[in-house]
Amino acid sequence: MPIAYIRTPFPEKFGIPRQPGLVDASGVVEMQPDFDKPELFDGLETFSHIWISFIFHQCIGQGWRRRVRPPRLGGNQSMGVFATRSPFRPNHLGLSVVRLERIAVAQGRVRLHVRGVDLLDGTPVVDIKPYLPYVDRVEDAAGGFAFERPESRLEVVFALSAENQLRQLPGGKTLKSLIEQLVALDPRPAYQKTTATDRSYGMHLENCNIRWRVEAGRATVIAVEVMGQ
Ligand code: SAM
Repeated sequence: MPIAYIRTPFPEKFGIPRQPGLVDASGVVEMQPDFDKPELFDGLETFSHIWISFIFHQCIGQGWRRRVRPPRLGGNQSMGVFATRSPFRPNHLGLSVVRLERIAVAQGRVRLHVRGVDLLDGTPVVDIKPYLPYVDRVEDAAGGFAFERPESRLEVVFALSAENQLRQLPGGKTLKSLIEQLVALDPRPAYQKTTATDRSYGMHLENCNIRWRVEAGRATVIAVEVMGQ
């Protein structure tokens, strides 16, 4: 049973970072009525980070896969599902550590403002716990095939048209920075990264449709259009 739903800038899966903390995307955890009580959060404000347990709800009904080809390995090697963070797992349970910016209480309603999210907008949250550095940060941990943070892979530039579109949007500066971080991570499927193509890519971010092209390690953002306009 969800205790909350999280609002994020990501209305669709394509382009969402593959782990938390890779981009500075903010989210708001909106508590469900039975859990929307300030006393349940008393003391949490002293922690800088929280664990969010959630359901990969968009995969429900699509089953699970015994073997997974992690994007981290270029999609060429398969690993056992429990060696991965794939959403296609038996109970579709996910776990993300995010920065807790503030706990807002207005008219008795609790909202957790967080940063560094890797979740779809509307993801059901099933638990929240404080991140405990003394136990959760393991100094000598082995990181397997995903030891290091993925490097930003693409240089990102903005076409004049996209710059102009951003300039007209409230919060355009923050949106530009988020686009830059997301596109730099190169969300294209592995097989499209090796074949030269003149196609453009698109993702939805907040209420905007973002489009870009990639050529020789450089992404050019060509459009930032408000949807429904
Ligand atoms: N940090 C979490 C974990 O380790 O359990 C999530 C890792 S998973 C690889 C992150 C990806 O899951 C995102 O890039 C996005 O494609 C997908 N995703 C995020 N929220 C989802 C949801 N509610 N339902 C289905 N897929 C989701």
